[in-house]
Amino acid sequence: MTQTDAFLAEIADALGADAVNRSDETIARYGENTMPGGDRPPAAVLYPGSAAEVQAIVRAANRHRIALYPIGTGNNIGLGSRSANLAGFVVVDLGRRMNRILDIDDRLGFAVVEPGVSYQMLHDELARRGDRLMVDVTSGPPQGGIIGNALDKGAGYTPYFDHFGSTCGMEVVLGTGEVLRTGDGALDGQDAANWHVSKYSFGPILDGLFAQSNYGIVTRVGIWLMPRPPAIRSFHFTYPDDADLGEIVELCRPLKLSNYVPTLFRVGNDVYLCGSESVSPTYPHAFTDDARRAMRDRHGLGSWTVSGAFYGASDAALEPQIERMRVHFGRSGKARYIPHDEAAAIPALEVAINAFSGHPSVGELGLLKWRPGGGNTWFLPGTPMDGRIANEVQDVCRQIYVQHGIDYMVMNVCGARFARGLHVLAFNRDDPDERRRADACYRQMAEAVARLGIFVGRAPLDYHDLHMGQAMPAFAQACGAIKQALDPNGVIAPGRYGIA
Ligand SMILES: Cc1cc2nc3c(=O)[nH]c(=O)nc-3n(C[C@H](O)[C@H](O)[C@H](O)COP(=O)(O)OP(=O)(O)OC[C@H]3O[C@@H](n4cnc5c(N)ncnc54)[C@H](O)[C@@H]3O)c2cc1C
Repeated sequence: MTQTDAFLAEIADALGADAVNRSDETIARYGENTMPGGDRPPAAVLYPGSAAEVQAIVRAANRHRIALYPIGTGNNIGLGSRSANLAGFVVVDLGRRMNRILDIDDRLGFAVVEPGVSYQMLHDELARRGDRLMVDVTSGPPQGGIIGNALDKGAGYTPYFDHFGSTCGMEVVLGTGEVLRTGDGALDGQDAANWHVSKYSFGPILDGLFAQSNYGIVTRVGIWLMPRPPAIRSFHFTYPDDADLGEIVELCRPLKLSNYVPTLFRVGNDVYLCGSESVSPTYPHAFTDDARRAMRDRHGLGSWTVSGAFYGASDAALEPQIERMRVHFGRSGKARYIPHDEAAAIPALEVAINAFSGHPSVGELGLLKWRPGGGNTWFLPGTPMDGRIANEVQDVCRQIYVQHGIDYMVMNVCGARFARGLHVLAFNRDDPDERRRADACYRQMAEAVARLGIFVGRAPLDYHDLHMGQAMPAFAQACGAIKQALDPNGVIAPGRYGIA
């Protein structure tokens, strides 16, 4: 009997045979992903039903020296999906049975969720309770998990866009098998009244340790929710030229520094926005500038389209603010205005309206079909909100895409001081040459932007080692020392985020 067999037999005894799955179909499904590096089949998949069962799994893994890989709902498409960072790990699928909304506090505006609670589930439950509160959603898969997304530092578009920042109070099973409650939850022997409402409790803020790391398995999180406004009106402006990105960034910054516009700005390029709706018409050849122009004209969009929204008491009450946007973005004469009602009929802009409104939607998943073969991975650098730098990074990345025959597809999500550039690499995963080119494109961009002083904020599993290698040695050493303290046998996702 191998160590893995002995471990799985122990788990089946403790949790029941239904909690362990080693079928060929399951192994294949949990190994699949969309990245260039290939599938990574696990040794088995486990389905715990409570924090106590997660503890039992972690303790047994310590005894048998088994590497575990926790997933919430496993919808991290483009960054890893359900697959572990290495083949042969045992995937702990928390979402299958730990998918309860434990609490919703309508007065204080928060929910408490388990790892299997998706955006769609929380959205639907809030709607059922009268739609008084809204959860900030991503523009990605509605089945994505609130905890998994927050732990991977995911983001949305409303004032509660910062998903990790909107969490408050966690319960975590550490690599040792101990249970830790963060924040006020650490108060011993009592139900902490402030666990999910106070971020700054006694002592160090430990929550951050569990974002993009491998120190514990999070079993419960508090998430803050925003009151749903009576009216939401969006505004959209198209710009004709690639270099207009600089002007857009300069125009967005003051609106966010003052928070005059409450949402983040989505600044999408033509291929990102139109790519959600169509397959590449020039495939297997890369998209030409002429094809790009023809496509965006067909869709009524620009080289760039910027979208934002206002919240208020009624549509009429928001009109003066929208008018002010028309003057602001209209200044150089290059922008074309698309009003809310017209945008709602353009699928790519409807995605933006849904995101600003806290409604999960599937429209953007069309990007996965831009090329056949479903290959999809994301390069996620950020830039300061400076138009010159935005254009410099655009030029560097655009050239590298072209060099590797990949179509430049990007959404810049702009805040007050910083914009995250969501660069999609869509490629045919069935074609070894395209996989190689997508991989080379990613690596070259990572090196090129690092030379400009720019790092990524989140990364596909294929590239965790690459990025940890870009960090200063003291950072890697500190991460390793914390791993040693909280998971001395290295049973939780060893190597994830480059932390051994
Ligand atoms: C077209 C498209 C658009 C997208 N748009 C967005 C967007 O707007 N914003 C955005 O943020 N993302 C976006 N994504 C990326 C992604 O799909 C989502 O972030 C997704 O919600 C994350 O998947 P999940 O929540 O199911 O996480 P999971 O896959 O369950 O987990 C994510 C990571 O966290 C770890 N993890 C999960 N749960 C736990 C736990 N309980 N304890 C410890 N570790 C855990 C896992 O090991 C995994 O690596 C998009 C993707 C696509 C394809």
